[in-house]
Amino acid sequence: MTVTVVNPATEVVIATLESAGVDETDAAVARAKHALPAWRAVSPKDRGLLLRRLATLVEEHGEELARIESDNVGKPISGARGEVGMVADVFHFYAGAVDKHHGETIPVAGGIDLTLHDPLGVVGLIVPWNFPLNITSWKLGPALACGNTVVLKPAELTPLSALRLAELALEAGIPDGVVNVVVGKGSVVGRRLVEHPEVAKIGFTGSTEVGRTVMKGAADTIKRVTLELGGKSANVIFADADLERAAAAAPYAVFDNAGQDCCARSRILVERSAYDRFAELLIEATENVKVGDPTSEDTEMGPLISASHRETVKSFVEGTPLFAGNVPNGKGYWYPCTLVEASNDDRIAREEVFGPVAALIPFDDEADAIRIANDTPYGLSGSIWTRDGARALRVARALETGVISINSNSSVRVSTPFGGYKQSGFGRELGLHALEGYSEVKNVFYSTEG
Ligand code: NAD
Repeated sequence: MTVTVVNPATEVVIATLESAGVDETDAAVARAKHALPAWRAVSPKDRGLLLRRLATLVEEHGEELARIESDNVGKPISGARGEVGMVADVFHFYAGAVDKHHGETIPVAGGIDLTLHDPLGVVGLIVPWNFPLNITSWKLGPALACGNTVVLKPAELTPLSALRLAELALEAGIPDGVVNVVVGKGSVVGRRLVEHPEVAKIGFTGSTEVGRTVMKGAADTIKRVTLELGGKSANVIFADADLERAAAAAPYAVFDNAGQDCCARSRILVERSAYDRFAELLIEATENVKVGDPTSEDTEMGPLISASHRETVKSFVEGTPLFAGNVPNGKGYWYPCTLVEASNDDRIAREEVFGPVAALIPFDDEADAIRIANDTPYGLSGSIWTRDGARALRVARALETGVISINSNSSVRVSTPFGGYKQSGFGRELGLHALEGYSEVKNVFYSTEG
């Protein structure tokens, strides 16, 4: 069995790899288990130094990694460079976090009580295809910082950057067996990791549907899970907002990464009194998104990941859209930037499209905006645009979502927690919060009597 890796902008096969099965997965878990005692015994200072070296190697190989990611995912090269920059920053952050992840002493009668953090053991990391290297680093950084060893399963469609990162980890001096990458099917390798009795935790990012399977599978061994799942986030625009700024930013909150973004603000909720003006500005801004060859320096949106995914995206657009942009002719899984008018009950507003399609939905007032924004099984991200600070904070409190931005569409920062409410999952990645997902807390009581 092989995995065929295709450049989605050209449809050219760029690699053919062996597809691992259960035996190879078990062998990787055994390697990770063997490497665990020595890795967890590495002093915090040295573990930090090794992560720092990995961060530096990622910087030194930044252009190479960005090209791999751009060719494999179809990402515009400028965006891919930014993502690789974040990967280096993530390893720098966790290099600095190793010796700050300390316990506490708790006042109790008859002795001293203290808490320690232990690694979990061998952790399985399962990653999707939309941000392969970024999401890998969000899991790998805290997992290694806490002293775990890792078996990483990249998505079948996009395994190349993770394989290169594992080589860089070795070059950085992280011992053999600490980071193991297994390329293969989710239903085989991923499933085996979830069921494997020697795997202590699964850090999973992917669809809500597969996340559900992972959670069920983990139950048999009481495995810890972090689930970073799908989203259907709302971009809430009040009439008093800086409409020009909100409209100029809105396309990039949906069409970035060709809409294949769990944080995509794919429901654009606009206060009715500003709806027509905003729609006009949004169409103008969307027309300006530069769609085309991902290797061009000024390209802002590339193709979708695969032909079959394009069919899925297409199936969401019924009738004549409010706006549909242009795409290159010829090879590549292109789909245009598309705006549709919708109600929150329409399929387009309820399901994750994971493509460059945004639904415009009007609302009447603040209460209506909150009701519509929360009327979804998901709760990952979102934005609020208003000049009224009190309202911004009121609405931010009311929205059932893990990450929210005010007068901005950014969701992700290295030092701040990221994760979902409701069926967007649970557990937090990034920042110091991620360390909690990769360690146990041990309580030690030492009697001072007698
Ligand atoms: P997916 O769920 O199909 O696959 C994700 C990973 O799980 C892949 O590596 C896949 O091989 C593996 N997998 C598949 N079946 C499995 C099984 N039975 N057991 C274990 N592993 C299995 O998702 P995708 O299509 O690769 O990615 C898109 C989805 O990821 C979207 O829903 C998106 O919202 C979500 N996502 C979420 C976040 C987040 O942080 N919340 C970030 C990026 C993507």
